[in-house]
Amino acid sequence: MPRLLNTAYEPELVPGKRSALFGMAMTEKQGGSDVRAGTTAARPIGGDEYELTGHKWFCSAPMSDAFLVLARAPGGLSCFLLPRLLPDGSHNEIRIRRLKDKVGNRADASSEVEYEGARAHLVGEEGRGVRTIIEMVTRTRLDSVLGSTAGMRQATAEAAWHVRHRAAFGARLIDQPLMTQVIADLQLETEAATATSLRLARAYDEDATAEEVAFRRLATAVAKYWICKRGPGHAYEAMECLGGNGYTEAFPLGMRYREQPVMAIWEGSGNVIALDVLRALSRDPQSFEAFDAELARSAGADRRLDTHVRRTRELIGELSRDDARDARARELVTALALAVQGSLLVRAAPPSVADAFIGSRLGGDGHLYGVLPLGTDAASIAARA
Ligand SMILES: Cc1cc2nc3c(=O)[nH]c(=O)nc-3n(C[C@H](O)[C@H](O)[C@H](O)COP(=O)(O)OP(=O)(O)OC[C@H]3O[C@@H](n4cnc5c(N)ncnc54)[C@H](O)[C@@H]3O)c2cc1C
Repeated sequence: MPRLLNTAYEPELVPGKRSALFGMAMTEKQGGSDVRAGTTAARPIGGDEYELTGHKWFCSAPMSDAFLVLARAPGGLSCFLLPRLLPDGSHNEIRIRRLKDKVGNRADASSEVEYEGARAHLVGEEGRGVRTIIEMVTRTRLDSVLGSTAGMRQATAEAAWHVRHRAAFGARLIDQPLMTQVIADLQLETEAATATSLRLARAYDEDATAEEVAFRRLATAVAKYWICKRGPGHAYEAMECLGGNGYTEAFPLGMRYREQPVMAIWEGSGNVIALDVLRALSRDPQSFEAFDAELARSAGADRRLDTHVRRTRELIGELSRDDARDARARELVTALALAVQGSLLVRAAPPSVADAFIGSRLGGDGHLYGVLPLGTDAASIAARA
């Protein structure tokens, strides 16, 4: 733990380092969402030590000092800590077969690996691997939410800066009404994502109460689904604000556009997360109570939001009686996400921001950016970008 928490960066693979980087390896060829399909075998060799034999189809940051790995022990799928170096300083039996040629996220190497009797230590109980590793995974889901949000902020800032300095048809772009709408709308998305991701992060603080822990169970899945999915479309719209330059590598939004989708794909792709929301609602009623208590904090502040929250509660009841509920999971998660974003904005953002967000997202024609309700103070919202 001291090495893991040490923030020094020591890239060398040598014994006795002060700091350590960790990766994780769960996904196999036959299963990424369904990690229970994993076949990597773990043979006990005494104490908490095992020998791992098998492959992983995705293993990012393979230069890490150690990995959390899922493998099948005699007692079932289990979680292991797999170091790159053994105590005598020799290399553990891990082979990097190939580096992935990825659409984006290229500064982060991802690899395919094979273990040939690699030594590893059991973490948690044998047979409870998913339950053990999920504690780490929920935090990487929070990280995806924060990453998408930060990416939105970058995209909005780049777009706003460009249109403030670029003129067309005799006026600066930012002052042309249709561009003002687009920048204001990108800003609304950024503000909603920021408020939501930081509210979620608070529920992960060390002093989180039991209610906060219950809140984060459902809120992590809701935010992971919605914010990470909103990222790519947002990046594309921001890129277009830069015109042709936006589509070139001389400007930074091409990279952001390629980066955003991975936040939605890894750590549980959209459908898997949406189904996880249904699971949380049916198996963990306290998580909904805590989520609902968060929504109740804004009750009475905006009639349209109150109506949306009421409909969302009704939808939950309806789905609990619907045999085809899985097919409607995205509908429900979308409703929950917009409810919590609206609720946070009416409490934390300037009234013009909350009003435009609720007007455009809850019942407006917001299929694409730049369609804000009549009377929106777009200039003041765009100025915040
Ligand atoms: C850049 C990158 C880096 C990665 N790094 C790592 C890493 O370091 N370690 C690691 O373990 N993994 C890593 N992954 C793997 C990643 O977590 C998986 O790709 C992801 O979980 C999806 O699994 P899969 O690829 O097997 O897709 P599948 O499980 O085959 O899913 C395909 C699609 O089907 C959907 N789906 C699945 N089940 C259902 C269902 N029941 N109903 C409806 N739809 C469903 C999914 O949402 C998805 O859209 C990485 C992936 C990428 C792209």
